[in-house]
Amino acid sequence: MDGYRGARTAVIVGAGVAGLTAAAALARDGWQVEIAEAGPPEAAAGWGLCLSGPSLRALDELGLADACLAAGYGMSTITHVDAGGKPADEVRLPRLIAARRPSMAGIARPALHRVLHAEAERCGVVVRHGMTVAAVDQEGGQVRVQLSDGTARTVALLVGADGIRSSTRGLLGFEATLDFHGQMVWRALVPRPAWATGIHQFAGKAGTAGLVPLSDGQAYVFLTENGVERSSLPGAALAPRLRQLLGAFPGRVEEIRSLVSGSESVVRRPVLTMLLEGAWNRGSAVIVGDAAHAPAPQMASGAALAIEDGLVLAAELRRHESVGAGLEAFVGRRAQRCRTLVQTSVAIVGLEQARRHHEAYPLVDSCHRLMAEPA
Ligand SMILES: Cc1cc2nc3c(=O)[nH]c(=O)nc-3n(C[C@H](O)[C@H](O)[C@H](O)COP(=O)(O)OP(=O)(O)OC[C@H]3O[C@@H](n4cnc5c(N)ncnc54)[C@H](O)[C@@H]3O)c2cc1C
Repeated sequence: MDGYRGARTAVIVGAGVAGLTAAAALARDGWQVEIAEAGPPEAAAGWGLCLSGPSLRALDELGLADACLAAGYGMSTITHVDAGGKPADEVRLPRLIAARRPSMAGIARPALHRVLHAEAERCGVVVRHGMTVAAVDQEGGQVRVQLSDGTARTVALLVGADGIRSSTRGLLGFEATLDFHGQMVWRALVPRPAWATGIHQFAGKAGTAGLVPLSDGQAYVFLTENGVERSSLPGAALAPRLRQLLGAFPGRVEEIRSLVSGSESVVRRPVLTMLLEGAWNRGSAVIVGDAAHAPAPQMASGAALAIEDGLVLAAELRRHESVGAGLEAFVGRRAQRCRTLVQTSVAIVGLEQARRHHEAYPLVDSCHRLMAEPA
């Protein structure tokens, strides 16, 4: 099939991982893409993330895996350490992009954002910062998008890539709830210890901690706090409280704890998940990334799903003669994989809460196997 042949114009809401990759993939197919991003330039939230094998594979399809590996830290193992401080399991992840390249990469969020942003701009995508979508109307296969600066666009495609708290979802009439699972997650930027050449995950008596290298010089510590209310702490209390929580872990965590310095390097967020039930498309509009399916961070796969979404969306629009048919096919290809990921991540959170860490390992493994399959 020749694919969609009408005017290839699209508005994407959100210049995060999903929005920028979808924009680059569509622009490469000849789409004229404009992104409305609420935040300022260079404002990627959070410290860092792990680009799993499937993330790197999808980035490789866009020719960006090497740039991400260069900007981040390539690695191939996850070491699980038990509550007594002893190594319990070492997962060697498959190298999905080539035997000589690492299985995954830790990367600072701003570094990933710079790579994706540069590629989108190179492909001719226009990113408008400080901008959102105020209203959406659909008629005759066209989408009329009212932007927050008072201007409007009439386009063939609208993509809502505005994250777990998406307002595009509401504008399109989708209903979604964010689920809190009694976990708060901490992140802190620290210098990378020389022994941290892969991800380390430490099971504790009341939570889980870990370390992810981001570059030669940097890593982030993560910690999940279980059985807690959703709450916020005063900024100055963050570093002392994180050091206190890390104090409950034996072994190498003692060293990591000593690396946590000022509260400005520490963030604490609720673990939230979301799954959009039913189709994610309405007419010529579609929801992608965390706005459609946000797993808990335990599987480190949210970004992989978001990047894959962009590639599959472009591929299905290429294959189908109408945008509506392309979007149907896109959701048909993505829904089961994303659902399984979100649901399994929630099950892992439950096992962590019940301190049944060993039962979580096979689930983690099954998710890695699922994600290793082609998107
Ligand atoms: C603590 C934590 C750790 C994580 N660790 C990992 C990890 O290690 N590996 C991994 O793969 N995934 C991880 N994830 C998940 C990953 O961050 C997300 O899945 C991924 O960022 C989703 O990308 P997205 O583009 O859909 O959403 P986002 O990255 O949230 O981007 C949404 C964009 O939309 C913009 N926006 C929001 N509202 C509007 C609006 N109304 N109008 C215009 N723009 C708007 C935002 O400013 C943002 O730029 C983690 C998540 C959390 C919370």
